[in-house]
Amino acid sequence: MRVHNFAAGPATMPLPVLERAQSELTDWGGLGMSVMEVSHRSKDFVAVAEGAEGLLRELMGIPEGYQVLFLQGGATGQFSAIPQNLAAEGATVDLVNTGSWSAKAIAEATKHAQVQVVADEADSGYSTVPTEGSLASTPGAAYLHYTPNETIGGVEFGYVPDVEAPLVADMSSTIMSRPIDVSKFGLIYAGAQKNLGPAGLCVVIVRDDLVGHARPTTPSIWDYAQMAKAGSMLNTPPTVGWYLLGLTLEWVKDTGGLSAMGERNRAKAEMLYAAIDASPFYANPVAKEARSWMNVPFLVADPSLEKEFVSAAATAGLTNLEGHRSVGGMRASIYNAMPTEGVQALIDFMKEFERQHA
Ligand code: PMP
Repeated sequence: MRVHNFAAGPATMPLPVLERAQSELTDWGGLGMSVMEVSHRSKDFVAVAEGAEGLLRELMGIPEGYQVLFLQGGATGQFSAIPQNLAAEGATVDLVNTGSWSAKAIAEATKHAQVQVVADEADSGYSTVPTEGSLASTPGAAYLHYTPNETIGGVEFGYVPDVEAPLVADMSSTIMSRPIDVSKFGLIYAGAQKNLGPAGLCVVIVRDDLVGHARPTTPSIWDYAQMAKAGSMLNTPPTVGWYLLGLTLEWVKDTGGLSAMGERNRAKAEMLYAAIDASPFYANPVAKEARSWMNVPFLVADPSLEKEFVSAAATAGLTNLEGHRSVGGMRASIYNAMPTEGVQALIDFMKEFERQHA
């Protein structure tokens, strides 16, 4: 029996994707072997890779003039790759701190560039984002980096910052959750393991003028120009992950694309926040205008009930609801592949748990 899996990533996958992969696991495309047994340089696999890129371009409306790269090393690798590709030695880079993932990006960037933290929400307890219009880049900064959705804190920007420097966004936990205007960004990157498929790939969407400036010391596998030239196959890519990413994109298309996805995601998030707000037993600590559609942290009035909540929920088929180990509490990650029924089942469970314990 499949559960409703609220994990933050690796996260729940669309069932039709898993079923399709299962159906062609041992004999893929009539080749008499599985996709994982095929050379990444074979025409069959190159078609998978190019198909995934094409679908990503189509679904996200990526304009001409952007490279789409499928890299390894996760979003964490990009924390280092971005300054090495976009900032010359000694250059200034701007970063916004809205929580745990921004802080990690800042720590890595500090190894490679002069970091200016241009806005810091630590004082707010990471419960909100800078107000719209308040962000400005440092004159001459190579780029401004921010985290549109903080996976742990459940804090999300409801707007795209308008700044002078090229805008760089860690969209790991929000990519493809709704339509966005890619042309506002210099670089978008996202680990695949939430909305794009299984773990193993990090998608980088980068404007052409930002490619080709890697420092000579940049590892080849993270040099955007080299990777673009090699079709992201300078070395052996995680082929199965790439194939599953393609199937996930097909599913997004089949279910109506990003507008429909955005509508569903908004509705799911609104349902869950409304249930939390309606009850004195549960609380969400994030400012209303900065609440994430994808990661919903919540607390119970009596923290000693947290363990019981998480284990009773798991027994009821609602799994992985514990908050990140660094913050505790609970967290429901409700990515694209989480159906509305899963969110409704969680709300029903929360009501029943409250009735028994309030
Ligand atoms: N940024 C964000 C916003 C994330 O949620 C994560 C992973 N949860 C990362 C970066 C790190 O990604 P990876 O594990 O792929 O390096």
